[in-house]
Amino acid sequence: MEYPALYLKRGEDARLRAGHLWVFSNEVDVARSPLADFEPGQACAIADHRGKPLGVGYVNPASLICARLVNRGIDHALDRSLFVHRFKVALALRERLFEEPWYRLVFGESDGLPGLTVDRFGDVLVAQATTAGMERLKGEIEAALAKVFKPRQLWWKNDASIRSLENLPEYADLALGEPIDAPLIVREAGLEFECNPVSGQKTGWFYDQRGNRDQLARLVKGKRVLDMFSYLGGWGLRAARDGASEVVCVDSSPAAVDAITRNAQRNGLQDRVRAVRADAFDFLRNLREQRERFDVVILDPPAFVKRRKDLAEGRIAYRRLNELGMQVLERDGILITFSCSHHLPRSMLLDGVQQAARHLDRQAQMLVSMQQGPDHPVHPAIAETEYLKGFILRVLPA
Ligand code: SAH
Repeated sequence: MEYPALYLKRGEDARLRAGHLWVFSNEVDVARSPLADFEPGQACAIADHRGKPLGVGYVNPASLICARLVNRGIDHALDRSLFVHRFKVALALRERLFEEPWYRLVFGESDGLPGLTVDRFGDVLVAQATTAGMERLKGEIEAALAKVFKPRQLWWKNDASIRSLENLPEYADLALGEPIDAPLIVREAGLEFECNPVSGQKTGWFYDQRGNRDQLARLVKGKRVLDMFSYLGGWGLRAARDGASEVVCVDSSPAAVDAITRNAQRNGLQDRVRAVRADAFDFLRNLREQRERFDVVILDPPAFVKRRKDLAEGRIAYRRLNELGMQVLERDGILITFSCSHHLPRSMLLDGVQQAARHLDRQAQMLVSMQQGPDHPVHPAIAETEYLKGFILRVLPA
């Protein structure tokens, strides 16, 4: 293997040996292997202070996480055949889990491909690279995806804001296949949703919540349901299909609200689903003032804590949101609440909910604790990969 070596300082190999995949810039022996000698995204061999190689990875001298380990050992290059192997291993899991090809196919570090996610929508693939290393390997990735999946289309949805940490531009483009003018369809639990991988959120659909949405069936029959931060109506439409008497979906994005209405019609649920464009906090305050109440309230907001330093502020935002959610709940109501902030610990979300309940002189009972679905596996050595935390709570008078 002729990759240049990145040498770690003494002792700094321990975390990698314990299973982690990241190297921080202060862990590198820069006298021996100056970071400035590497180009952004360049492949490297990562070695301990004795020179013993741990594996191959890639470097970005501009990033705090200055290298990521992609393969242990140095027998394989970072090339098409490595990606083909990884994609086949990832696919085998998803085929065991799901009957239809709609799922997250690759979840970065957890699938042995740091910095790469791929979502599958039938014969359309939507990929996202979040590191310079993966950006540089785009050609190999495209060739491997073409070989394993023969997709009708492959999109790059490279517009995640974290790309700025790696000095990467934001863009979305079609890498393989012909442009077509029809919306992309997601199938979930017998419903169809139209989504748009290019203009939509993330890569177009929140597959991470699918298994959690399965919980609705036993909670919503004959109930009034409020789906806050509804995006394309994933929660709300499933609630309507599962027997809710009335569903209100709220999102601040006009495109999302239009899509909810179309998605309700597509599934014959338009009589029971109403989509409203509003700021969630304003909308909840209005409901509170009008004394309107729901049996089930779902709070699935965007990440309030994007960077670790926003933790204190974000924690207050979650608490405030959950308090507002409880104020529009019936006396004996169900609150379904989430945080997708990587930096917010699960216990902090639950504490916020509990404090909100006490503040309103109500009593909460936690019924179910939730995480992201199994097509987003958690890497036990990398805490950040368990990013979605959620609870189903019953909220009663004190
Ligand atoms: N619940 C959705 C995913 C939600 S993603 C699902 O299961 O698919 C977060 C959504 O919140 C986005 O659609 C975004 O447009 C919306 N959003 C962000 N800030 C908002 C605000 N202040 N008020 C209302 N919606 C907001």
